[in-house]
Amino acid sequence: MNTTTPPAESATCTLFVVAAPSGAGKSTLVNALLEREPAISLSISHTTRPPRPGELYGRHYFFVEREAFEQEIAEGIFLEHAEVHGNLYGTSRNTVDTLLASGRDVLLEIDWQGARQIRKSKPDCVSVFILPPSRAELERRLRGRGSDSAEVIARRLHNSREEIAHAHEFDFIIVNDNFDEALGDLQAIVRAVRERSELPWKRHEALIQELLA
Ligand code: 5GP
Repeated sequence: MNTTTPPAESATCTLFVVAAPSGAGKSTLVNALLEREPAISLSISHTTRPPRPGELYGRHYFFVEREAFEQEIAEGIFLEHAEVHGNLYGTSRNTVDTLLASGRDVLLEIDWQGARQIRKSKPDCVSVFILPPSRAELERRLRGRGSDSAEVIARRLHNSREEIAHAHEFDFIIVNDNFDEALGDLQAIVRAVRERSELPWKRHEALIQELLA
């Protein structure tokens, strides 16, 4: 066997799926990850939820009316969609496929129902679930956000049980107790997956050849 022949190339882009109960700190973690890993693109979802103060159309979400969203479901534009906390959310199939085809890793910040649909259509995806360290801390973080009404907070707390009940369906679980540690864990997952999918022999080819000489 010729040990110097490298293996054939294969597709290298990864679809990351990150889910968590509301208040686990998922968005803050994901935003910090994206700052450290600029080669990953965040897919911006469509939602019927009204914008929170400071949220921008096209930056945080594409905010749409329910009727328009339902029309988009009928047109098949979503790779996945789900009703979460009484609002509809969905990921554009076109956005994800275009990004992946252009050589970008893509990250979806979605709920367990969406993650389940993605696992079916994109079985190579890598899914990560973020847990809060305790119920008390989850509640404290949800109340501390200050942008949601008491009713919305109560609903999100109630729904967190359903979300957490699906944690075992994910490839990785991270506990967001210490933020820096959780961010380090998330980045380690991304880097390990990338190392595997980037054909490590390619990056280290010169060294491999030198060692084989
Ligand atoms: P929020 O309203 O707090 O931004 O998000 C509420 C929940 O909806 C979070 O669990 C979030 O991950 C989820 N979510 C956001 N975008 C999508 C999406 O495109 N699809 C699905 N299935 N869930 C989403």
